[in-house]
Amino acid sequence: MTQAETSVDFVRGIIADDNRSGKFGGRVVTRFPPEPNGHLHIGHAKSICLNFGLAADFDGVCHLRFDDTNPSREDMEFVESIQEDVRWLGYDWGDNLFYASDYFGQLYEYATKLIENGKAYVCDLTGDEVREYRGNLTERGKESPYRNRTVEENLNLFKSMRAGFFEEGRHTLRAKIDMAAPNLNLRDPVLYRILKQTHHRTGDEWPIYPMYDFAHGQSDSIENVTHSVCTLEFEDHRPLYDWFLNELDIYRSQQIEFARLNITHTVLSKRRLIELINGGYVNGWDDPRMPTISGLRRRGYTPEALRNFCDRISVARRDNTVEIALLEHTLRDDLNKRSPRVMGVLDPLKVVIENYPEGKVEDIISTNNPEDLTMGERNVPFTRVVYIEKDDFREVPPPKFYRLSPGREVRLKDAYYITCNSVVKDETTGEVIELRCTYDPNTFGGTSADGRKVRGTAHWVSEEYAVDAEVRVYDHLFTTLDPDDVPEGSDWKDNINPDSMVVMESAKLEPGLNQAKPGERFQFLRLGYFCVDKDSTPEAPIFNRTVALRDTWARMDQDRKKN
Ligand code: ATP
Ligand code: MG
Repeated sequence: MTQAETSVDFVRGIIADDNRSGKFGGRVVTRFPPEPNGHLHIGHAKSICLNFGLAADFDGVCHLRFDDTNPSREDMEFVESIQEDVRWLGYDWGDNLFYASDYFGQLYEYATKLIENGKAYVCDLTGDEVREYRGNLTERGKESPYRNRTVEENLNLFKSMRAGFFEEGRHTLRAKIDMAAPNLNLRDPVLYRILKQTHHRTGDEWPIYPMYDFAHGQSDSIENVTHSVCTLEFEDHRPLYDWFLNELDIYRSQQIEFARLNITHTVLSKRRLIELINGGYVNGWDDPRMPTISGLRRRGYTPEALRNFCDRISVARRDNTVEIALLEHTLRDDLNKRSPRVMGVLDPLKVVIENYPEGKVEDIISTNNPEDLTMGERNVPFTRVVYIEKDDFREVPPPKFYRLSPGREVRLKDAYYITCNSVVKDETTGEVIELRCTYDPNTFGGTSADGRKVRGTAHWVSEEYAVDAEVRVYDHLFTTLDPDDVPEGSDWKDNINPDSMVVMESAKLEPGLNQAKPGERFQFLRLGYFCVDKDSTPEAPIFNRTVALRDTWARMDQDRKKN
C-alpha cells in the first residue's frame, strides 16, 4: 500500500480521492512558492516537506516558484539562499524552477482580457479611499465612482499605466466583482498598482506590478499545478482565486489550506525576524538562535531531524502550536545515532592528581558511540593534571549531590577513580581554583578491581593535551511559551531571553577537536550535542551547543502516559 492510500493526513486524503475520481488525470503537481524577501524559517520547512513530500508520495513533481511580485522588498540574495536551503533539506525541483516575474507578460494579457470582458476597471481612488470605500464586515462597501468607465477608456488607461505615463498611486486596476460581497476579498480587489521600482529580475521593464492574489492563482494555472497547498489565512482568498480562473476561463488548480506551524518560545514571521536582526538582538539571519533554516543548520540541526519533525507534526486544518521540546526531542533522536562522543569541559576546574607520576601519559580507551559500535574507539590521553567541570564539584555538597567533594571518591570517565583530599582557593575571592586529589591505580578503565562502586562519574580533559575553545551555549530565544504573552504596554521583544547565548570562552576539549570541520557534530559527554561553528578555525575553535541532553519532551510524554 502506498502512503497515499493510508492517507496519513487530510491533504493526502484529498489527493488520493482526486486520483480515484480522475480529476487531474492522476497527475500531481505541487509547488513551494516563497517570496524572495527573507530567508526561510522552519515554518517554510513544513510547507516544503509537505509539497515536495506530496510529489514524492504520488509520483508527481513539485515546482519551486519565486513569488516575486513586490520589487521593493525582494533581492537575489534571498533567491539564492532559498534554493540553498531547500536543497539542504534534501529536496530537488529538477527543471521546475519558476518565477512569477516570468509571467508578467501573460498576467498583463489576462488583465486586459478581464477589462475587455467588463470585469476590471481602472480606478483613481487613493489607497486610503479604496480602504474607506471597501466597508467592513458589518457594512457593505461603496462603489468606486470610476467603476463604470467604458471598456475602451479602461483599455487606454491600462495601456498608459503599462507605458509608465503615470506616477505611483495615480491609478490602480481593480476587478469588478461586488462591493456588497460578504467576503471582503471580493469587493473589487486591486489587481495592479503602479510601482516605479527596479525589479531584481525584470529590471525597469515594468512600471506596474500585479498584486499577490492576481499573480498567484494564475501562476499555478500557467504551471498546470494540480494542488495548490497554502496556509489557512488564504482560505478567504480562495473564492477570489477561483473567480479569476473562472472569468479567465483557464486551467484550474485546486487550492487547499492547512494550518501554519507555530512553535513555543519562537516567532515565525519574516517581519519579526527582521526586527530581531535590525534591533541587534541576534547576529543576522543565520544566528544559531534564529528559527531560520540557515540558523538551525548553523546550530547543528540535521535535515533529517527537520524532516522527521515535519512528519511527526503532520498537517491539519486547525491552527495549533507545537512544543519546542518536540522539535528538540526529534533532533536528539537523530543526533544520538550519528554523533561521536567526546569529552569537553565548558567551565574548567583544575584537578591535580598528586600520586600520579609527573610526565606520565596513558591512553584511555573510549567508545565513540555506544549506540553504534561500528563507530569504533579512540584513545584519550590521561595525565597528572586534568580539568573537570566546576559544576561537578561542591565544597559543601547539598543532599543528593553525588559528584566530587572533599573526602569523596568519583570516577573519571573511562579512566580512574579519584578522591578529593583538599582544595586550593583564590586568596582574594575565596573561590575554589584547584582540587588536590589522589587516584586508585587499581581502577584503570573506570572500574574497580575489588568491585567498589562510586556514585558519580565526571568527564575530564588532560591539561597538557587540551584544545582551548570557545563554546556558545544557546537557550530558547524567548522566555515565555508565547512571545506575545506580555503585560499591557510591553512588547513581544520584552520576552527575549537575556541568556539565550552564554559564551564559554575558556572551554577545554579533548585533543583533535580543533581539527573538526565547520558543521561537524559531536556529543560532549553529559553536556549535550555540539557542532563546529562556521567561523571556527583550528587556531581558534568555536563550538555551538545544538541542544542539551535532558529530554523534556520524553519526560512530558511519560507524564502524559501516567495521567
Ligand atoms: P511569513 O509569514 O513568515 O513572513 P510568508 O507566508 O510571508 O512568511 P512566503 O515566502 O510567502 O512567506 O511563504 C512561502 C510559503 O511558505 C507559503 O506557501 C506559506 O504559506 C508557507 N509558510 C510560511 N510560513 C509558514 C508556517 N509558519 N507554516 C507553514 N507554512 C508556512
Ligand atoms: Mg507571504
